[in-house]
Amino acid sequence: MSYPKKNIYSTGEKNAIVGGMLYLVATPIGNLADLSERALKVLSEVDFVAAEDTRNSGLLLSRFGISKPLISYFEHNKRERGEIIADRLEKGESCALITDAGTPAISDPGEDIVRLCAERGIPVTSVPGACAAITALTLSGLATGRFAFEGFISGNKNDRRERFAELEKERRTMIFYEAPHHLRQTLDDFLACFGDRKITLCRELTKLNEEVFRTTISAACEEYKTREPRGEYVLVVEGYSGTEAAADYPESIEEHVALLEAEGMSRMEAIKACAKKRGVPKSVVYDAVNR
Ligand code: SAM
Repeated sequence: MSYPKKNIYSTGEKNAIVGGMLYLVATPIGNLADLSERALKVLSEVDFVAAEDTRNSGLLLSRFGISKPLISYFEHNKRERGEIIADRLEKGESCALITDAGTPAISDPGEDIVRLCAERGIPVTSVPGACAAITALTLSGLATGRFAFEGFISGNKNDRRERFAELEKERRTMIFYEAPHHLRQTLDDFLACFGDRKITLCRELTKLNEEVFRTTISAACEEYKTREPRGEYVLVVEGYSGTEAAADYPESIEEHVALLEAEGMSRMEAIKACAKKRGVPKSVVYDAVNR
């Protein structure tokens, strides 16, 4: 694929709405007061708004007294709807894209429409604002100088393990989005794959029940044994520091169990001993050797 010949453009006068422009408008991730003055102006003045969830976004707009034609743009219609939006932009209309919450194009279909606009030479500008990943990173107390945004973690056990294995030696601080029903499993997998490191669990950011839990992965596993995960989470995990390499056992759980078996233990004894040594639940080791 190649871009149109001239794909350098100026997004123009920042205070006036420009026809033919796509505006990525960040919306609050919880606290409505985080909607910026510029976001309100753009939302009030564009020709139409494309929204991931037209019902939620309609409520948000009406809360601010804005009435605009809304068109839905979400994961399952993004291909066909993206083309329609791009056609309208090419005809000179202006459009604001808002997604469920936060900054469009971060773990949502915004990414695809920006790519489409780039391919078709349609100008795009951004009205920045809240982003859960950056909000969590800044609150984490972990290194912020270099970080890796990892987005959502797959619900599929093998995909997840594979991804964490790739990240085992990642030195940058890592940021993950997580749903409450997967949290416990993810924490167990973090412990198995990354060892015991610092982690900050950020929940319900900017909302009434905002919580920032700075702890270690093993302590987070313990905490959530008895506590029901609730709300939306961003998990910020300390990068690899190199100290884990000093461990006197193989890096992979499978090799660790195999080594113990070679030393004469039965499979179950090896699983127990491996779990104890690594400070992880037996089920994590059992799953790793039986997948
Ligand atoms: N585009 C958004 C952004 O800029 O952060 C992210 C959209 S993604 C579909 C939604 C995920 O972001 C949630 O599952 C959660 O992990 C995270 N998230 C969004 N709002 C949050 C909040 N108030 N507190 C904690 N996490 C949040």
